Amino acid sequence: MKITCLKCNEVMKKTRLDKYEYVEGTPLFDVPGYQCPRCGEFFFTEDIVDTMEERTAEIRRHEFGFKRRLTTSGGGLVVRVPPDLAQDLKLREGQQVRLLPIKHRGFVVEKA
Ligand SMILES: [Zn+2]
Repeated sequence: MKITCLKCNEVMKKTRLDKYEYVEGTPLFDVPGYQCPRCGEFFFTEDIVDTMEERTAEIRRHEFGFKRRLTTSGGGLVVRVPPDLAQDLKLREGQQVRLLPIKHRGFVVEKA
């Protein structure tokens, strides 16, 4: 497939960008694309754009967090897991999880 530059009609060359923000604030790394050897203009095919959209959505899916209030049970602190998140991660009662402390900020809960 030959792709020509819209600005200078030069045949564009396949390249890979180390970093590209398809959506501002969500950088993607190692993105394929085409670049004009004359003016440096970039071009992305529909397939590449679809992939960039998927990759951006995937990153964004993990960016948001949940606010929960701590409660107590039997002297210990309890964090309730939102049902949607539990379902998405296929978490069930009795399942083992691992708490990974983050310096001075809290912890990440991970399936064991
Ligand atoms: Zn060009």
